[in-house]
Amino acid sequence: MKNRLGRNEGGYCGERIDIQAVLSEIDELARQLDWQPQKICSDDHLIINAYVRQGSSSSHCFYISSGIHGDEPAGPLAVLEMFRQKLWPIDLGLWVVPCLNPVGCALGTRNNGQGIDLNRHYRQPLARETISHIHWLQSCPRFDCSVLLHEDWEANGYYLYELNGVDGTSLSHQIIEAVGQLCPIHADGPVDDWQSCDGVIRPSIDPIQRPEWPEALFLLEQKTRRNYTLEAPSDFDLPLRVASHISALRTVLLNSPS
Ligand SMILES: [Zn+2]
Repeated sequence: MKNRLGRNEGGYCGERIDIQAVLSEIDELARQLDWQPQKICSDDHLIINAYVRQGSSSSHCFYISSGIHGDEPAGPLAVLEMFRQKLWPIDLGLWVVPCLNPVGCALGTRNNGQGIDLNRHYRQPLARETISHIHWLQSCPRFDCSVLLHEDWEANGYYLYELNGVDGTSLSHQIIEAVGQLCPIHADGPVDDWQSCDGVIRPSIDPIQRPEWPEALFLLEQKTRRNYTLEAPSDFDLPLRVASHISALRTVLLNSPS
């Protein structure tokens, strides 16, 4: 169904998922497919895993994360479907973190168990999740591109943020064109502090203007020169949001320039 459901009031009020079941299935499928599990955090009450498939020496390297906000279930479900349907293209190096905020995802809250929005503290990390994540990222190679899966409960269609430190190599319009076959695209206008045009937002990448770094800005500063933060509209059906994320993610993976 391609229509707004009109159920989100003051925040996300849609479907919840059993995140532990989703993560267990991803773990099982990734191991079956010979991906390497890596522990980002393995405290008693906080387990965050990554899954790595090294490509050949000439492979492009991609980083993909989801579940940093616990009230955005389409991201972890899209990662699960990528494994279930074996949709990861061959010959790519892939570093995938299916859920950066497992406690928030279990609670269905945007923030983590301590009420911290993890996607605001990559400049001065406070939370165990962020500190562990940065530590793990520093052990990873540089990536050709990163893709972060999010949702927006207020949006009237799909959109994305592009952070691009390299001129002339944008895939944004290709992504929006692919997703537009499935899902409405967010109308032009302001989103938070930024202006959306044809479903694309290009925020400032000047760290001085961004005192609270999201994950994307940390990645741009330290690990990659290209980032797409994908925002599915969470007032639409969950299967549509998952299919839209898969379409967008595969567009990036199959078309990224070197
Ligand atoms: Zn989000």
